[in-house]
Amino acid sequence: MILLTSDVLGNITPEMWEAMRKAKLGWPPRGDDENVNALYDRIKELTNKEAAVLVPSGTMANLVAIITHTNGRGDQVILEAQSHSVYSEELGLSSIAHMFPKLIPGNKGIINPASIIEAIEDCEFNHKPKTALLCLENTHMFAGGTIYKPELIMENCKVAHEREVPVHLDGARLFNAAVALDIKAESLVKDVDSIMINLNKGLSAPEGALLCGTKKFIDKAKINLKRLGGSSMHKGGIIAAAGLVALSDKNIARLSEDHRRAKIFAKAVSLIEGAKIDLSTVQSNIVLVDISSSGMNTDTVLQSLFALNVSGLKKNQKVIRFTFHNGISDNDTMMAVDTFKEVLQRKC
Ligand SMILES: *Cc1c(COP(=O)(O)O)cnc(C)c1O
Repeated sequence: MILLTSDVLGNITPEMWEAMRKAKLGWPPRGDDENVNALYDRIKELTNKEAAVLVPSGTMANLVAIITHTNGRGDQVILEAQSHSVYSEELGLSSIAHMFPKLIPGNKGIINPASIIEAIEDCEFNHKPKTALLCLENTHMFAGGTIYKPELIMENCKVAHEREVPVHLDGARLFNAAVALDIKAESLVKDVDSIMINLNKGLSAPEGALLCGTKKFIDKAKINLKRLGGSSMHKGGIIAAAGLVALSDKNIARLSEDHRRAKIFAKAVSLIEGAKIDLSTVQSNIVLVDISSSGMNTDTVLQSLFALNVSGLKKNQKVIRFTFHNGISDNDTMMAVDTFKEVLQRKC
């Protein structure tokens, strides 16, 4: 089976299994687990932030960040309209953090300073909610893994900060962005106040996410994490041991392989009749294929692909998402292209 459904399906590497088996365990919340402490040191080095905390999932880390930055029920949080936090986290930001999502449609997932200023200033008149937080997502999943350049993040943060609005970055795939731009992750997060980073996506660790920020922010976040039931990572040293391998220079650099294969796949599939791809959005490890001109819907195409051992994920009636990770080889990539061709040509 060629699993292009999600990068959460990447393989735990032999080095990770080895590190987990060998991990000497302490008790993370007390600060005496050596692997968890080393993981914090490593992510602080990579992001140049003061402090970090290990969280069971990216969803929980985003929610903790939102709760920690905001403290007034009914304030608004500005997000791009197709953010993961809006579509795929059951709106914890409304149901648990009591925030109103103010959505800005981006250009391929990317929002700019002018629209942020408008969304904030629209609220100064007190019949509307006050803006408590701006969230950005890099890479942007629903837009197909599109990337913010450091200059635009800087400008977005500047206009938010000038209006006393803090900025949280959903950096589930921050290292995909950094590797694709061939820059240090640090330069993508210099101006944001907090960052969530997934260990369990393309980096292929078994579990977990890291929330990073100032020491003051993380101390406060730890209390909110406890309230949500997320701080009881008692044997978190096992996850941290794998996480350290996930954050090694070698494992981070390997993400470029996924990007290379995503581009090869996208170029080849875009030539198939009935498949449309905006190649400008293929910037990291995700490829969105619009199959509406094939006359089939996504369910039918996905079923046919599945019968031929290729899996993708339905985005909507027209679009299928394919995501590359360390379990996909060059050969798998070419086989997936051929299978796609076979399925669409059956109909066309
Ligand atoms: C996967 C993902 C999350 C959530 O992470 P989980 O560990 O699955 O909860 C958040 N944001 C983005 C962009 C993601 O892709």
